[in-house]
Amino acid sequence: MSESYFDEFEAPNRLLLGAGPCTVHPRVLRAMTQPVVGHLDPLFFQIMDEVCEMLRQVFHTENYVTMPISSTGTGAMETACVNVLERGDTAIVCRNGYFGVRLADITQRCGANTIMVDSPWGQPADLNALEDALNANPGTKMVGLVHAETSTGAITPLQDAIDLAHRHGALVVVDAVTSLGSHEVRVDDWDIDVCYSASQKCLGSPPGLAPVTFGQRAMDVIDKRATPVESFYFNLQGVAEYWNETQRVYHHTSPITMTYAMRESLRMMMEEGIEERHARHARVAAGLRAGLAAMGLELTTNPEYQLNPITIVKAPEGVDEGAARARLLNEWNIEVSGGLGEFRNKVWRIGMMGEGARETSVLAVLSALEVILSDAGYEVAYGASVAAAQRSFAMNGSAP
Ligand SMILES: *Cc1c(COP(=O)(O)O)cnc(C)c1O
Repeated sequence: MSESYFDEFEAPNRLLLGAGPCTVHPRVLRAMTQPVVGHLDPLFFQIMDEVCEMLRQVFHTENYVTMPISSTGTGAMETACVNVLERGDTAIVCRNGYFGVRLADITQRCGANTIMVDSPWGQPADLNALEDALNANPGTKMVGLVHAETSTGAITPLQDAIDLAHRHGALVVVDAVTSLGSHEVRVDDWDIDVCYSASQKCLGSPPGLAPVTFGQRAMDVIDKRATPVESFYFNLQGVAEYWNETQRVYHHTSPITMTYAMRESLRMMMEEGIEERHARHARVAAGLRAGLAAMGLELTTNPEYQLNPITIVKAPEGVDEGAARARLLNEWNIEVSGGLGEFRNKVWRIGMMGEGARETSVLAVLSALEVILSDAGYEVAYGASVAAAQRSFAMNGSAP
């Protein structure tokens, strides 16, 4: 008998309150322990159809081409851009944080002449600057916008930007990775052409799938391409032939277990109700912000455009951001995220996403932060932040 070289891995039960992945509900984990069936098994086709139907409800769309891409959110970003853009096209990307920067990087890699519309971190996208860019670049093929900038905590209201882009004949690609499942995203009512998300933020699954939806205007542009899509894996028409119930043509092996997980997390969302889920994220975020304010901590986001699933808070002067985060993880089993890009080493990003967005999560992270900040020499009135959060919850009619 030989012994295995490594021990079996037993993952700790962390409370994941960072920028994703979020904590996954046991029901979703249980769904992932189901036997693996084949990707061309008719039973699996039914699972696929159910996932698509629920995704249409979450996106508020009747778009037929609505399905999860086998990748994380970044693969959905590539899917959106590589299908819509051809070399030499013009794309305008609004950059008000790290993911806007990534989106522009991707449009450039697709060979598009990419015009950047920059706004300061913590602010929504600048629509006046977008209008100037559209006026200066007639024939722009695509405008890219990040609805919820996970790196800065800011939400960009979309309707005016979408109307503006359409008046100039451009398609609108919206990153809803962090907003889907926590803020309203209405693809049809707002007339979004391409919208994408990811399983591990507010949808409540582990990382590994990235829902996308393409409207008719975008599909027409793809149909009329002069050149083939420069990706095999993310070629939408190939992927769609597998997801289309009248075709079911093999494109790549579907991640079966991930699809089980997504189906269960969407089922949970339907049980809770989409509106109720948004309200929960708002209630929980209000409590978190009240608690952070009571501790005297400063937020970096314009308060009028504050996201609910993620709150960015500045580490106080003299407190080592990374060391505090390490104590949270090692001693409290709580994960929060550090800053990206220009916020690196300066902020904590506290996520209240999906299953993690609970009143009890707020109380846990606030009480741990009180101890950690106090030990680091920052003056804290013990209990004040927790009390402030509880007052906020009571005012909003929820009890932990
Ligand atoms: C997380 C995130 C992404 C990228 O998703 P991955 O799953 O990490 O590939 C893209 N956009 C936004 C706004 C995100 O928060």
